Amino acid sequence: MKEWKEFENNEISHSMAHYLMAIQELHKRQGYARVTDVAKELEITAGSASVSIKKLRADGWVEEDHNRFIRLSPEGERLAHEIHINNRLFVAFLSELLHVSEAQAQIDACKIEHLLSSETREKMLRFMTYIHEDNKVVKNFRHGWNDYHFDCHGPEDCLVCEDGETCAIHEKLTHLMDQPKG
Ligand SMILES: [Zn+2]
Ligand SMILES: [Zn+2]
Repeated sequence: MKEWKEFENNEISHSMAHYLMAIQELHKRQGYARVTDVAKELEITAGSASVSIKKLRADGWVEEDHNRFIRLSPEGERLAHEIHINNRLFVAFLSELLHVSEAQAQIDACKIEHLLSSETREKMLRFMTYIHEDNKVVKNFRHGWNDYHFDCHGPEDCLVCEDGETCAIHEKLTHLMDQPKG
């Protein structure tokens, strides 16, 4: 199996993941969820919410009671919870550690939140927990990292540059250096 095909085999699509999280959020907030509530929450039409929820029910992620109230199945709860954790971990990783802007971190985390394996989620959690520890080694690492500045000068000192194929950081610098000085 080629890795790129794994994307298509993911348990759930991105929009379906957001349906699950919306249903979970509605239950937390108001104690119940109807198709119209989900539609409103996701800013979509009741018609398309209805079609998607039907599919989620067929796939076993969502259940409907006799009053037509919907809720997550135990499997749906598990998945929504995992996606939520992935999101929080990635927002923290990107914004706190890599210093990506909060808004961009939210966008990137949202895009990948439903795709992470349980192995990556667990290792990510361990890493993020470690990085917050209050000991000398970690503090030194954080200081060093915060002060670190990287200029790419090509393959000799860069992890990703190859001969003839330079990284974006390198291109940006070359471009800047080519600008006539005013
Ligand atoms: Zn998302
Ligand atoms: Zn480079």
